[in-house]
Amino acid sequence: MLTRQDCEARDRADPLAPLREQFVLPEGVIYLDGNSLGVLPRATPARIREVVECEWGQDLIRSWNTAGWIHLPHRVGAKIARLVGAEAGELTAADSTSVNLYKVLVAASRLAQADAPERRVILSERSNFPTDLYIAQSVAQELGWALELVEADEIEARLGPDVAVLMLTHVNYRTGRMHDMAVLTRRAHEAGALAIWDLAHSAGAVPVDLKGCDADFAIGCGYKYLNGGPGAPAFVWVHPRHADRFWQPLAGWMGHASPFEFTPDYKPAAGIARYLCGTPPILSMAALECGVDTVLAAEPLGGMAALREKSLALTQLFMDLVEERCAGHGLALVSPREDALRGSQVCLTREEGGYAIVQALIARGVIGDFRAGDARMPDILRFGFTPLYCRHVDVWDAVEHLRAVLESGEWRRPEFNQRHAVT
Ligand SMILES: *Cc1c(COP(=O)(O)O)cnc(C)c1O
Repeated sequence: MLTRQDCEARDRADPLAPLREQFVLPEGVIYLDGNSLGVLPRATPARIREVVECEWGQDLIRSWNTAGWIHLPHRVGAKIARLVGAEAGELTAADSTSVNLYKVLVAASRLAQADAPERRVILSERSNFPTDLYIAQSVAQELGWALELVEADEIEARLGPDVAVLMLTHVNYRTGRMHDMAVLTRRAHEAGALAIWDLAHSAGAVPVDLKGCDADFAIGCGYKYLNGGPGAPAFVWVHPRHADRFWQPLAGWMGHASPFEFTPDYKPAAGIARYLCGTPPILSMAALECGVDTVLAAEPLGGMAALREKSLALTQLFMDLVEERCAGHGLALVSPREDALRGSQVCLTREEGGYAIVQALIARGVIGDFRAGDARMPDILRFGFTPLYCRHVDVWDAVEHLRAVLESGEWRRPEFNQRHAVT
């Protein structure tokens, strides 16, 4: 049987342990929600102060040139590219994940309409993140296409001569299940469809090889595993073979070939630059860069492969300890046990009390989150493990709190059943 001392020993032997020093981790908190909002990097407040007080306060509009503000989306994009198997110049930071999905879905539909106009279906997964489904519904409505939703294991079979675009989230936000990007992209291409990947729960969490998988488009989130701060800019990647073929639909001036010529006609910039729309949010972009740098700091220690190894060790430890120490309390595992199928989170379910259990844990300083189920999907107690700052001993302590909450029946207290606006 594992002990807390074993977990401490694993932390002492962990080559990635020093990376935790990069973060502000509040006293008394075990943070298992980095898949929803990454923690604050220590470098961020000073950098924001510099941008505000010096670059904005003193240098004012000159900073677009002198501080390189105008290049910031591409500079940050080039750093994110290193984490997802893309090249500098192929990926940029911009807008939100939702907006970027709209851009790439419409761009993909323009490619499809040119190359295979008989294809009029966007295929996705029923349990995909709602915003992805809503944006796809809207695009399908605009085009007179259909959005079809299937279960994860029905995707390959549904790829047929009518499917124009396969749009998937690499790691499912509810279950933590990870798709095989290489295989599904290949299947999509064999069936004549384009593949769009949402990397919201992948970038900075699991190794991604966009070029190696030959994906067509990708988007992802800046405020989860990239630690960019609440509402951080997202990112967008387009395979270079497609980038210059079509406009993206939000043809704004920042994506123009020469924005400062102020010409009346839109002429898209070459490559990924056309995926910018309006003026980038410099303060948020600066914070995102600090966040991305915390992930790149793992490069000399083995990079994403080393982070993945630790992430799998943490999620495995959590599953083992829950099984061993919380047995008989009605918890069931939703996430896959198989390493190849699991992202960096573990989801549990319980017939009753999921929401209140998470609230009781939060009151004890163990921060995870809850996602309500419906007729098809169970309630989810969700725990994200960010290998940059999560320790083995945190996993131990979190499971001990979970056990205590269940054994004592503490979660039945009325205050833990009051719903907040954000869960
Ligand atoms: C977190 C997340 C988003 C968030 O989109 P926003 O535009 O930032 O609100 C979108 N898609 C998926 C799959 C996510 O996990």
